[in-house]
Amino acid sequence: MPHIDPLLDRNREFAARNGQEGASIMPRHPVFVVTCLDPRTDPAAFLGVELGDSMVVRNAGGRVTPDVLRDIAFIGALAELQVSTGGPLFEVAVIHHSQCGTAFLAAEPFRQSFASRTGFDEAELAAQAVTDPEHTVLLDVERVRSSATISARVTVSGHVYDVETGRVRTIVAASPMHHADERMVA
Ligand SMILES: [Zn+2]
Repeated sequence: MPHIDPLLDRNREFAARNGQEGASIMPRHPVFVVTCLDPRTDPAAFLGVELGDSMVVRNAGGRVTPDVLRDIAFIGALAELQVSTGGPLFEVAVIHHSQCGTAFLAAEPFRQSFASRTGFDEAELAAQAVTDPEHTVLLDVERVRSSATISARVTVSGHVYDVETGRVRTIVAASPMHHADERMVA
């Protein structure tokens, strides 16, 4: 049996009870979450994010990659169209976590064999590893804040989720983009 089948059963239940109703493309909470694809770090569970609540991008480690920067820039440009009066648009919340599987990329034997098998750059793979989430979340918050392609009306925060306690700790409170005009983020 295909592994997706039990989840498709849940979709039929979802559609039968009109679970999609009331969700809008305008999020209830203007937050753009960037976090790991680990099954333990689902924002629907640990942040209580419900349908229509916020935007979420998940990848290995919850890293701010060029693709993620492009997505934030794109959503920022769309939001500027929707909210033309000035003022803040949304907050990007980067959330790294403890016991991240990307730590395997810090282990040389695995990284080397994976790099030689796939052709991915070994230094880039090593840089993707989240072994110290308090440190990598700082790096990634700065990556967003320094991106000139992202609207100056976006703010950025950084957090670490502990998979053992279930608690989220804020490492960087919501901060303006480096190129933001002070009046726009007030
Ligand atoms: Zn992870």
